[in-house]
Amino acid sequence: MAHDILVVEDENAIRGMLAFNLRRADFEVREAADSQAARKAIGQRLPDLAIIDWMLPDGSGLDLTRWIKRTPETRDVAIIMVTARSQEQDKIAGLSSGADDYVTKPFSSRELLARITAVLRRSQRGGEEVITRGCLTLNPQSHRVTSDHGALALGPTEFRLLRLFMERPERVFSRAQLLDRVWGPAVFVEERTVDVHIRRLRQAMEPHGAAGYIQTVRGAGYRFSLN
Ligand code: CA
Repeated sequence: MAHDILVVEDENAIRGMLAFNLRRADFEVREAADSQAARKAIGQRLPDLAIIDWMLPDGSGLDLTRWIKRTPETRDVAIIMVTARSQEQDKIAGLSSGADDYVTKPFSSRELLARITAVLRRSQRGGEEVITRGCLTLNPQSHRVTSDHGALALGPTEFRLLRLFMERPERVFSRAQLLDRVWGPAVFVEERTVDVHIRRLRQAMEPHGAAGYIQTVRGAGYRFSLN
């Protein structure tokens, strides 16, 4: 279940070291050297978490954090701010910008990994809560998805797919990411298997008028969207 992390830091040595340590801890890592590159990367694919340096060449990490947290499509991205400052006032400013946590340079990779794990655990938002999107309501405990027309006829794989999509609306998942998160990293199946299950999922959603929620994003994968 590899999480995607975006590292936003202009100092190459620090960014490279962070990326190296995170990849070694089995995260999928993308790197951005400034705010503009970070916005572009986030637009292409939502990360689960962004590590954002306070001082960036084209604006402050604080502004980038505010932008991410104020934009409906991106506000679920968890954020850890990194700064050389250790003033209490700065820490308050960092957290009030919407950052989920805050680390002060220099920090150990062990400390950062512990904070990442804690933030990701918190951002999984309960895990057992009922999710409603559009006309669909998903109950993780009963493993049922219902609409006004009754329960959807879903196999276990289709249920896991739909749950992942409903937990992260608007997020584009590649076939490889879906395989990893729905089937598990140790299972060998071809990527076209994903298409087969997406087709079944849409068929199950069709009688409820919800098949259009699962959208094909050309060259990228699939997403759940009400738009
Ligand atoms: Ca910097």
